[in-house]
Amino acid sequence: MSPTPAADAAFPTLSADHLALLHRFGTVEAVDDGTFVFVEGQASYDFVVILTGAIAVVRHTIDRTEVPIARHTPGRFLGELSLLTGERTSLAARSVAPDTTVLRIPTARFRELMASEPDVADIVFTAFVARREILRSGEGAATVRIIGSRFSARSIELESFARRQRLAHQWIDLDDDDIEDIDVLLASVGVTRAATPVVITPTAVLRNPTVGEFAANLGVSFAPSPNRVHDLVVVGAGPGGLAAGVYGASEGLDTLVIDARSVGGQAGASSRIENYFGFPNGLSGSELVESGALQAQRLGATINAPCAARSIDVAGDHFVVGIGTDDAVACRAVIIATGVRYRKLDVADLERFENAGVFYAATDLEARVCAGRHVVVIGGGNSAGQAAATSPSAARRSPWRCAATTCTAPCRSI
Ligand SMILES: Cc1cc2nc3c(=O)[nH]c(=O)nc-3n(C[C@H](O)[C@H](O)[C@H](O)COP(=O)(O)OP(=O)(O)OC[C@H]3O[C@@H](n4cnc5c(N)ncnc54)[C@H](O)[C@@H]3O)c2cc1C
Repeated sequence: MSPTPAADAAFPTLSADHLALLHRFGTVEAVDDGTFVFVEGQASYDFVVILTGAIAVVRHTIDRTEVPIARHTPGRFLGELSLLTGERTSLAARSVAPDTTVLRIPTARFRELMASEPDVADIVFTAFVARREILRSGEGAATVRIIGSRFSARSIELESFARRQRLAHQWIDLDDDDIEDIDVLLASVGVTRAATPVVITPTAVLRNPTVGEFAANLGVSFAPSPNRVHDLVVVGAGPGGLAAGVYGASEGLDTLVIDARSVGGQAGASSRIENYFGFPNGLSGSELVESGALQAQRLGATINAPCAARSIDVAGDHFVVGIGTDDAVACRAVIIATGVRYRKLDVADLERFENAGVFYAATDLEARVCAGRHVVVIGGGNSAGQAAATSPSAARRSPWRCAATTCTAPCRSI
């Protein structure tokens, strides 16, 4: 069978010229047959190019059975998007041939390579994105599982965070009728339905975790580096903050972007954006912000979430941004792109229902929860009505209806 275009993009073979160029960034080393180059859960890993022999990329199931993902031969390279996003590895790689030698490029040198050699950077970046898409589409293997109820606010928060991180994850909705063997899976990790949501990652079983705990397990939360002074800290990772991150990093600034919730801001909750410059056919908000985040990371920016800025102080010739409860980061410039905070209804117990019936977005995720139900859109602006009317699931599965409204405009069915 000939390889598909997606496989071609995901698994390119570098030319002799490209290999010669890469030698400037790394060192050659032998890897004994059977030796792991990296394992699941490692905090960081090097960029590795195969020179001779072969390396297999595998994942391990909960019972430690090895599942093959790919086999790399000379001229091919290991790695996927986690090398840019800073996520822990979710797969493992080991030599599967005698006389295997590799070119190993440490993370810092890899970033320099990506910034200074656009031809190779294009090939590597395209492959990384394609590999993540293969993992996400299920042709490969989801490496994170989130098991919960679509009616649980915590479950929805975790699933939403995973989507915005572009994780290769599987969402298992306990309220779906057709899920099989779910109790067997839960029992295998020692969890009952009552103790969900549960997140199973390559390194841990997280019972009812907060999004912060989930992010910490993935390795995408903020990790303080005491003596580092960033050139730029951007507070907020909506479209405004991400654009600032792209421009800062593209100018060679040491750029950190942080967001209190997750990447995307309001735009991440928009089902369709028709008026963004350069996209004549429109695109979904999640496509826009996911691409923006990847662009910033490719150019060298670091993005951490959930990670809230709590204060900004001046200390000598630089700023100190307070983060979370007791961390801080030093920088020469700060851009604040914190967007809006939603006005909330004055209704008793509202918080209890947020993300579990009361939503501030109508993406596919919320539409699935509301499919077949009457939906009340509250507000006079266009965003809620537009999102409700254009959400793909809503259109496909249920006619959304404006059953009541508190706006002063005439109530009309949408
Ligand atoms: C459903 C919907 C549909 C929309 N459709 C369109 C459209 O079609 N066309 C259009 O032009 N606009 C649309 N908009 C509006 C558009 O999304 C916003 O104008 C845009 O997202 C604003 O970008 P921003 O980066 O300034 O702020 P935001 O998107 O609001 O992002 C701000 C970010 O800052 C973070 N933050 C806040 N405080 C802190 C803190 N202390 N520390 C760290 N992070 C913090 C927040 O978590 C958030 O992620 C829509 C909005 C919605 C909700």
